Amino acid sequence: MKTSNSPGPVFVWAVTRCVCAIALMVLTAFTTEGQDKEPWHTKKCAVALTYDDALNVHLDNVVPLLDSLGFKGTFYLSASFPGFSARVSDWISVSKRGHELGNHTLFHPCEGSLPGREWVKPDYDLKKYTVGRMVDEIRMANTLLQTLDGKTERTFAYPCGDMKAGDSSYVEKIRADFLGARGVEGKMQKLDEIDVYDVGAYMVNGQSGDELIRLVKEAMAKHALLVFLFHGVGGEHALNVSLDDHRKMLYFLKDNEKDIWVAPMVEIAKYVRERGKS
Ligand SMILES: [Zn+2]
Repeated sequence: MKTSNSPGPVFVWAVTRCVCAIALMVLTAFTTEGQDKEPWHTKKCAVALTYDDALNVHLDNVVPLLDSLGFKGTFYLSASFPGFSARVSDWISVSKRGHELGNHTLFHPCEGSLPGREWVKPDYDLKKYTVGRMVDEIRMANTLLQTLDGKTERTFAYPCGDMKAGDSSYVEKIRADFLGARGVEGKMQKLDEIDVYDVGAYMVNGQSGDELIRLVKEAMAKHALLVFLFHGVGGEHALNVSLDDHRKMLYFLKDNEKDIWVAPMVEIAKYVRERGKS
């Protein structure tokens, strides 16, 4: 009796199913690989440009440069500083151009007894604050900033990186008031490692443009978030970076924009809250 060599329907079904399963495995592996390599809005890393203490140089030197490159920064404002009180209308204009006005309190209280803190006035020594007083001050700063930009979502920067009023942490008490908060510890972390209420930052003081670019390259290699913490840019503060070095790093960011997500802290905090561990 002659038997047919053509495969039966069960065999065809099995082969088809096997091929589909393999294709799915390859596709999944490819997609997972892609996510791992480009976790920040499909880019390799994220960079936040943050500028502290409401300096005139931020308005005069930094904002025009960021605007010319299409970057949005975060400006952590302390309302009692002269660069804020004398130039409120300029800060309103900064917010209208898409930059974040971040909360850095009203009076910039810090723990005065630590080395190098001789400049802290006794009235604004965090060691003498209560948690309640600190929270009230921070919330009033939020109200003030809202009158400038109309926004209810923003981030906070711990003055001097201090997280205690008196002997108690105030961090938990302000969580509901912010999408995130920036610390001062020099660390770059991956998306799933970030505590959004203690985001690390690299304090810039005297580094060359090449040194700043090296940090960006490291963030790209690690697929990490890199937060720059600037004070003076071309002067006005003891912690300072030159205009040329600052500009050089920003041009590098622009030249590598396809791999680097540059965004204000509030946008990055939102992204981390949606996709990270927090
Ligand atoms: Zn500060």
